[in-house]
Amino acid sequence: MTAQLIDGLALAQQTRAQVAQRAAAFEQKSGRKAGLTVVLVGENPASQVYVRNKVKACEAAGMKSELIMLPADTSQAALLTKIDQLNADTSVDGILVQLPLPSQIDSHRVIEAIAADKDVDGFHVANAGALMTGAPQFTPCTPYGVMKMLESIGTPIRGAHAVIVGASNIVGKPMAMLLLAAGATVTICNSKTRDLPAMTRQADILVAAVGRPKLIDASMVKPGAVVIDVGINRLDDGKLAGDVDFESVKPVAGAITPVPGGVGPMTIAMLLVNTMESAERRLV
Ligand code: NAD
Repeated sequence: MTAQLIDGLALAQQTRAQVAQRAAAFEQKSGRKAGLTVVLVGENPASQVYVRNKVKACEAAGMKSELIMLPADTSQAALLTKIDQLNADTSVDGILVQLPLPSQIDSHRVIEAIAADKDVDGFHVANAGALMTGAPQFTPCTPYGVMKMLESIGTPIRGAHAVIVGASNIVGKPMAMLLLAAGATVTICNSKTRDLPAMTRQADILVAAVGRPKLIDASMVKPGAVVIDVGINRLDDGKLAGDVDFESVKPVAGAITPVPGGVGPMTIAMLLVNTMESAERRLV
């Protein structure tokens, strides 16, 4: 058996084309483009690539995108002032502050300063709470994209055992909430989990979101499982690798996402969806 490949690039392209149609309709109705502002503090090379890709994707979909680049020594107060300005700016539908932030800045404080109705990342405590109670305003982009990928191949979720490796606020925890809401039985693993392979081998749906290259090998995967690799790791040779040992797992899994070309492109596509939804809500 060899796993079905879940093509994140193709699905992201479809999603972005749908957003482009909505963006055009929005512009016609409102007389302005839907707008996302991305704020980057400092010069983290990976973050620079991520924010440029987000800005480019917005523009390609016919949305307005502004990139604000602030120096690494920006004070927390200065960043909060900038966010206040963006909150008040009616041409801005979505605000995204790229993480991680430099150590002098408390990222929780910054995320809480973003107006919840412009928090297209879905990280604000009001949005995290809304997701937990089942009425999300913005669903965090990466887990949202994963749900769309599962849907695209008709993965049965109700009653399935989903195991998530990684428990961060931006991936693991919201992923668990979404799968739970869709009827899965969910196990969340973290770095203290005693016997990780015993957990992952139970998974009908296995989501790896850790940041450790090739942590998940074939011996940890139940035959036929759907394996979603969220990890993005830069190897010494400069190549990108996921958290899943793709070559070893492919013959065992029922379906699998590649890295690159899997969850990454869907994350950006869902950011556009969230920004578009925010703009449309503002119209009515
Ligand atoms: P994080 O560092 O905030 O969280 C990692 C989680 O993994 C923690 O809960 C930790 O307890 C757990 N963990 C660490 N070692 C473990 C182990 N040996 N066994 C089990 N659990 C372990 O990371 P994050 O921000 O959630 O990101 C995770 C990965 O996903 C990273 O590689 C990141 O680059 C990637 N990522 C990708 C996208 C995308 O669009 N594809 C988006 C966000 C993050």
